[in-house]
Amino acid sequence: MKAVYLTQHGGPEVLTYGDLPEPAIGPNDVKIRVRACALNRLDLFTRAGVRGTRIKTAGPHILGGDIAGDVAEVGSAVTSLKPGDRVVVNPRITCGQCRACVSGETELCVAPGMIGSTKSGGYAEYAKAPAVNAMPLPASLSYVQAASLPTVFLPCWSILLRRAALKPWETALILSASSGVGTAAIQVAKRVIGARVIATTSSDEKARRAKELGADEVVNYKTEDVAERVKSLTGGRGVEVVVDHVGADAWPYATASLAVGGRYGICGVTSGYKVELQMGLMFLRHQTVFGVFMGRNGDLRQIVDVAGKGVIKGVVHATYPLEETRKAHEEMEKLDFFGKLVLTVP
Ligand SMILES: [Zn+2]
Repeated sequence: MKAVYLTQHGGPEVLTYGDLPEPAIGPNDVKIRVRACALNRLDLFTRAGVRGTRIKTAGPHILGGDIAGDVAEVGSAVTSLKPGDRVVVNPRITCGQCRACVSGETELCVAPGMIGSTKSGGYAEYAKAPAVNAMPLPASLSYVQAASLPTVFLPCWSILLRRAALKPWETALILSASSGVGTAAIQVAKRVIGARVIATTSSDEKARRAKELGADEVVNYKTEDVAERVKSLTGGRGVEVVVDHVGADAWPYATASLAVGGRYGICGVTSGYKVELQMGLMFLRHQTVFGVFMGRNGDLRQIVDVAGKGVIKGVVHATYPLEETRKAHEEMEKLDFFGKLVLTVP
């Protein structure tokens, strides 16, 4: 099969387009004919081998976790899917046997994996996944739309609906509206929960698009004092919930924007991962800081259902054919885009 793979860590130049054997599936897996695979920051980190992503297995590695396509083959024990089914994949793999998994809290699995990172993924004509990770798609969702959902919507679902439990009468601060997570978090906070949304971004054009997605207010973090603006927009209270996937650069103004009783959810650290925490303020102000990584298969089922009804949608900046993966990685490193970059595999 055609695939884009790497045999060493490095820049976009280590991505090679060529031929590799199709993946062999186990009894509980499905083989998927990939039609679309979205790029994520994690792909860039894994390609470079930074932030704990060095690949431990020998031989060619295929990046890409957000896979949508057609089931081509099912393992002998699979009863939930059949060849020809259109599916999207939750790239987070769990063991199904540890205490967390049997309790249904699969995001806390002690032996997790990640398709595209710890295992080969979807920059290819074929990929494999556990059948429980593959969600059937409604006809209303295209492969490109479906592939743009998992990695950006799962953490937002975990933060906003489960951990922070944002309420319709509360206000959320969504950092970096133009990123995949930003575009997802605005929609979940506004269109699914009905809360007030303040988003941050860096240009008038990005602010306009954030408002189209549902942001009530947009603050330019390059030209404005974010914490001051948030205070004035919330009558001095601050926001009840922050969704942070930016990390170190945003931490000072984002924590200063958090209300008494506020919940601060972290699902990424693109700009850096070490910060100073004001412990005194935190206990005096009854605040919570927590992290989430991805979400449960059931969450993706819900996300697909809601997306199928048109309530939320993946925001796609551009698509690239598989053989232009290197170009897509170069584009993603420039930071000048709004939404997802998605590979297509005709
Ligand atoms: Zn487990």
